[in-house]
Amino acid sequence: MILGVIAVFALGAGAYRFKALDARGSIAGVCMALAIFFGGGWRWLGLLLIFFGLATFFTKFRRDYKKTLGGVQEQETIRGVRNAVANGSVAAAAAIAEGLIGGNIFGAVFLGALATSTADTLATEIGLLSREKPRLIISLGTTVPPGTSGGITVVGTLVGISSAILISIIAVIINAASIIPAKMLLAGSIGGIAGVISDSFYGASLQGRYKCGACGTVSESRRHHDAKGVPVQGIGWIENNTVNFLSTLTGAVVAVIVLLTV
Ligand SMILES: [Zn+2]
Repeated sequence: MILGVIAVFALGAGAYRFKALDARGSIAGVCMALAIFFGGGWRWLGLLLIFFGLATFFTKFRRDYKKTLGGVQEQETIRGVRNAVANGSVAAAAAIAEGLIGGNIFGAVFLGALATSTADTLATEIGLLSREKPRLIISLGTTVPPGTSGGITVVGTLVGISSAILISIIAVIINAASIIPAKMLLAGSIGGIAGVISDSFYGASLQGRYKCGACGTVSESRRHHDAKGVPVQGIGWIENNTVNFLSTLTGAVVAVIVLLTV
């Protein structure tokens, strides 16, 4: 148990040290990882560590090139507390429920949420390296700048699908949940794929876009030129973090549906 707590704090320190998370984000990450360890044990923590390793590696991979693309990605390479909570709260809640109540449903919730986070992070980070212009998932004829929410590429989509399957295969190998392997593989894969597709869909349709009062630019940033933007599209209070939370929730729900119906 002490070893697990040490592993979690080492993870938090590493996240801060490698600038994956800022200070408050790291503290939130440590709290959620502790919940995952105490609720789900070593196997859940192991899967979280693998996700975190993959996410950090691919976020930093060719970072200088990605920075030249501009877009929203630049400000988000160091993730803050809201981003950490948006991505991790469904998985952490599943772990707390697993510890208090137990049952394979919460294993599927955890797997669906984590597969979504893995697929979304890798699809975004590797998709940015693709030379093709992203297209809006709700209007494939419309090309958008790299990093735009709701923009998809062929490479990013294929990476998202294979990442969801990959993390589910790893979950089966380390026997992450008390679910028969074939069901675990299907629930994680289909949940993660549904989650990553829903992320683009919510990003394109629900996420707010704001018009800068100073220069008139329409962007996903609520503030531009130090001025508050006016919402012109989507739902004003839904920003990137809300979309991440909704997509992990979608991945979790779909994973449970697959678990219960297949
Ligand atoms: Zn402006």
